Amino acid sequence: MFEGFLSGGIIKRAIQKGLIEINVRNLRDFTTDKHRTVDDRPYGGEEGMVFKPEPVFTAVESVRASDASPVYLLSPSGRRFDVPLAEEMARHPQVVLICGRYEGVDERVAEHLATDEISIGDYVLTGGELAAMVVVDAVSRFVPRVVGKEASVRHESFFEGRLDFPQYTRPRDFRGMKVPQVLFSGDHKKIETWRRTKALEKTARRRPDLLAGRVPSTEERKPLDQNKDERKKR
Ligand code: SAM
Repeated sequence: MFEGFLSGGIIKRAIQKGLIEINVRNLRDFTTDKHRTVDDRPYGGEEGMVFKPEPVFTAVESVRASDASPVYLLSPSGRRFDVPLAEEMARHPQVVLICGRYEGVDERVAEHLATDEISIGDYVLTGGELAAMVVVDAVSRFVPRVVGKEASVRHESFFEGRLDFPQYTRPRDFRGMKVPQVLFSGDHKKIETWRRTKALEKTARRRPDLLAGRVPSTEERKPLDQNKDERKKR
C-alpha cells in the first residue's frame, strides 16, 4: 500500500534528498509461530479479530530509536489530527505510527505503548495505512526544505486560524468567467488585503469554528459581519 505513496511527488523527492526517511514494517515479521499470527479473537466474544499485543510491542521496540520518539496509534477514537499536531510531530527526529486493522488493536497497546492515539476524522477506515499516509504527508510538509518555499506552507489553509484565499491562473477570461481585476493591479498591498479578506470571508462562511475565540481585527470585522448578515437573511 505504501509503495505508490512513497514513489512520487514531494515525498519521493524528500526521501531522495535525505530530508525524511520512512521505514515501513510488516507485523508478521515480528511473530514467532509458524503461521506468523498477528491477530486473535476478542475476549468476551464478538465478531472480528484484534491485533495481538506481542508483535506490536516487539515491532515498535525494534524501530524506536529512543524513549523520546513518540508512538502514535492510529485509531478512530484518537485525538483529532490537525496542523498543530503535525507541526509538533515534525519537530521530533523520529515518530512511530501503528496501523490497526480488523476490529483494532489490543487495548494494552494504547494504554502501555502508545504516547497518544490519533484519528484523521470521524469515519472508520478498514485499516490504519491510509491514515498513516495522511499523517506522513502532512507532517513532512513541516520538515524544513521538503516544500520548496517554506512560506507557502504558512500561507495555506488552517494557518492563522483561517482557510486559504482563492487562487487563479491563465486564462484571464474563461467562458466569460473572469479573474478578479485586483490581481492585475500590480499593487501588492492591495492584493494582500484582498486575499486576506477573501480568506476570512470563506472561513466565516464555511468554517466559523476556526475563528471562534479569536478577537477579530478591524480588517477582519467586515467579512465576519457580512457573513452574519447573510445568515440572518437566510
Ligand atoms: N473497531 C474500531 C472502532 O470502531 O473504533 C475500528 C477499527 S478500524 C476497522 C481498523 C483500523 O483502521 C484501526 O485500528 C485504525 O488503525 C484504522 N482507522 C480506522 N479509522 C481511522 C481513523 N478515522 N483515523 C485513524 N485511524 C483509523
